[in-house]
Amino acid sequence: MNKLICASCNTETNSFLHNINGQEYCYNCASKVMQSINAEKNKVKEQAYDEFINQEKIREDNIKELSENIIFTTTNNIDGFFVENYIGVECVEVVLGAGMFSELEGKFSDWFGVPAGAVMDRLNKAKNMAFKRLKNIAVEKGANAVIGIDVDYIEFSKNMFGIIINGTLVKVEPTKVIAESKNGQKKLEGN
Ligand SMILES: [Zn+2]
Repeated sequence: MNKLICASCNTETNSFLHNINGQEYCYNCASKVMQSINAEKNKVKEQAYDEFINQEKIREDNIKELSENIIFTTTNNIDGFFVENYIGVECVEVVLGAGMFSELEGKFSDWFGVPAGAVMDRLNKAKNMAFKRLKNIAVEKGANAVIGIDVDYIEFSKNMFGIIINGTLVKVEPTKVIAESKNGQKKLEGN
């Protein structure tokens, strides 16, 4: 029978050896080897996780930057741009929870129960939230502009209000003059 010799410390052992990745180790060395293997695995996992977080941050920053540059308009045309691609109609809803008015009624009272300022404040917040969502959707779908925007306020019941914003996601490009006639008339790209 072959001698049982540890690949790490070269000590002969009379118990059995542990095979790790094709090498035979004594009990003490085997546990050290396993520890370093696990430490290495954890390091790889941590690096992968850091990399993932990093990529997510880059993606978020990218979305943020792109969404800040999104053009929003209620019209169907944007001066100086032409629509290169219609991506689709998108609709965003923000519902103001039940109790919006009753909650305010307890705190204030004017002749119609709720101060208009407080209501407007909440509606504005909801509107901003809806626009922010629409911007993010636009970026995710590859749009750089939303045209034909329409904002609707809906009362679902006495205490439930909703804001609905819809618009058409488009990819626009700056208009280039592709030809100019003798009398100064310009032929624009996309027109
Ligand atoms: Zn050993």
